[in-house]
Amino acid sequence: MRPLVAGNWKMNGLDSALAELGALRQRLAQAPVPEAEIMVCPPATLLARAREVLAGSDIELGAQDCHPLVSGAHTGDISAEMLADAGATAVIVGHSERRIDHGEPDSLVNAKALAAYRAGLTAIICIGETEAQHRDGETLDVLKRQLRGSVPEEARAANTVIAYEPVWAIGSGLTPTPADVAEVHGFIRGVLSQLLGQNESGAMRLLYGGSVKPANAAELLFVPDVNGALVGGASLKADDFYAIIEVY
Ligand code: 13P
Repeated sequence: MRPLVAGNWKMNGLDSALAELGALRQRLAQAPVPEAEIMVCPPATLLARAREVLAGSDIELGAQDCHPLVSGAHTGDISAEMLADAGATAVIVGHSERRIDHGEPDSLVNAKALAAYRAGLTAIICIGETEAQHRDGETLDVLKRQLRGSVPEEARAANTVIAYEPVWAIGSGLTPTPADVAEVHGFIRGVLSQLLGQNESGAMRLLYGGSVKPANAAELLFVPDVNGALVGGASLKADDFYAIIEVY
């Protein structure tokens, strides 16, 4: 299975990120990493400019969120169809920052994933336990609940990527041990197998996210059942993002 390294810019990128994206593109043209699929997910306002920077390259464009509906009276929201029109081929749904900042429940994440499919986009569905849930030993229960609620029956390996992002590892410099990541990813694959069948589960990419950096990428990305990374802060710098991609 071809791994995916996706960069989530979050609410960043107005300053130097497009220049960094140009540098990443150049770097990959000079020293390609064909083993990995590469994607960047800028804020929606930067999609069109990022698309210009990436024109003719293999780097894919993703978005960070979508509304479940195609159009209508939903001030400030953006539909999956609009993201596709702007050049995105994927959209992140259910990121913990949206679940927490905007109170998004699993049912809404599920509806957003369905919207992604409707628009022909890949849904990158995020799950992950909080620090308190981790401390209380609830990780696997939380992940099972999130998977059951957030992953639509229509999810297939061809239209869905699952990203495991422990909330306590995001932006903190902390990461689970490779053994813990292996256990969790194996568990996720097992739950997906119950939900979607063994074929789809076996072929679906499971990304790890949370403080992935050049220094720990090799140790985290070759863990069994890890099929790539969802990278936050380190995706904003071409050198760092390339150094992560390059482990493949
Ligand atoms: P960091 O890589 O900055 O920890 O962010 C991870 C993340 O939330 C990606 O979606």
